[in-house]
Amino acid sequence: TTAPVTVLGLGLMGTALARAFLKAGHPTTVWNRTAAKADSLVAEGARLAPTIGDALAGGVTIVCLTDYSAVRELLGDAGLEGTTLVNLTSGDSAQARETAAWAEKQGARYLDGAIMAIPSSIGTAEAVILLSGPRPDFDLGALGTVSHLGEDPGLASLYDVAGLTMMWSVLNAWLQGTAMLKTAGVDAATYAPFAQQIAAGVAGWLPGYAEQIDKGAFPAEVSALETDARAMAHMVEESEALGVNAELPKLIKAMADRAIAAGHGGEQYPVLIREFERPGE
Ligand code: NDP
Repeated sequence: TTAPVTVLGLGLMGTALARAFLKAGHPTTVWNRTAAKADSLVAEGARLAPTIGDALAGGVTIVCLTDYSAVRELLGDAGLEGTTLVNLTSGDSAQARETAAWAEKQGARYLDGAIMAIPSSIGTAEAVILLSGPRPDFDLGALGTVSHLGEDPGLASLYDVAGLTMMWSVLNAWLQGTAMLKTAGVDAATYAPFAQQIAAGVAGWLPGYAEQIDKGAFPAEVSALETDARAMAHMVEESEALGVNAELPKLIKAMADRAIAAGHGGEQYPVLIREFERPGE
């Protein structure tokens, strides 16, 4: 279905969004504070809205600005009665919920979203677009793989931040290993395929471990936390001996040690969820 859409904000991401809509055949209206950024899209068939009010008068409006304060600044006086807004600007869940309440009060139907993709992947199945809020009755499939996560407008941002935690944790763990191996003359490219295999293997454990967390029962079927903690000591000692950064290994070990001190040494790794569920030290 190729219903009319509007894209507000033509930065790197907004431009990619508008282009994907055009390619999929959606009649696409665009608006940007700096109007010149619309030139190439207009050449590709987009309609440039002369005013923000005109832009909002069309169908579904996708908003993709720098941050939530820019969104509030732009839409504050625009008149939102009867509009359908999909805010794909990145932010946290509190901002999403506040903005949802604010927009709904003005008569808008508001969905919050998050984009877990780079501009060049928009329009391919690889681009993950998360939505939360009222169930959409429109199709944003032109942008990528779209998932509606639920009615709570904060969910898309929460998933976004959860995903970022995964991304940066994996990257930091890889950099730690790379720094260790470089001391022995092993270059990053040599280690990368090995690291990739380990990361993929660990990723495969997640569904089973998730079951333990959801049941609240952590029998040591594969390994006890005490055994894991001994391997963590090697990781800390090796890093220190090599003169590479040991902060990440120490943090990992400190969390396991606390869970062991709390009596969980005989249980399996995901029992550490208890350390993650409360504020840290
Ligand atoms: P850019 O810096 O390229 O674009 C920012 C856009 O916001 C521009 O259109 C700018 O308008 C507009 N803007 C900022 N402040 C205001 C304001 N007060 N009033 C009106 N318009 C305003 O950023 P991106 O396009 O890269 O990112 C946009 C959003 O997408 C961000 O929330 C980002 O986190 C998210 N995102 C980006 C990714 C990426 O790889 N780029 C990946 C995933 C998410 P003007 O042109 O006039 O300055």
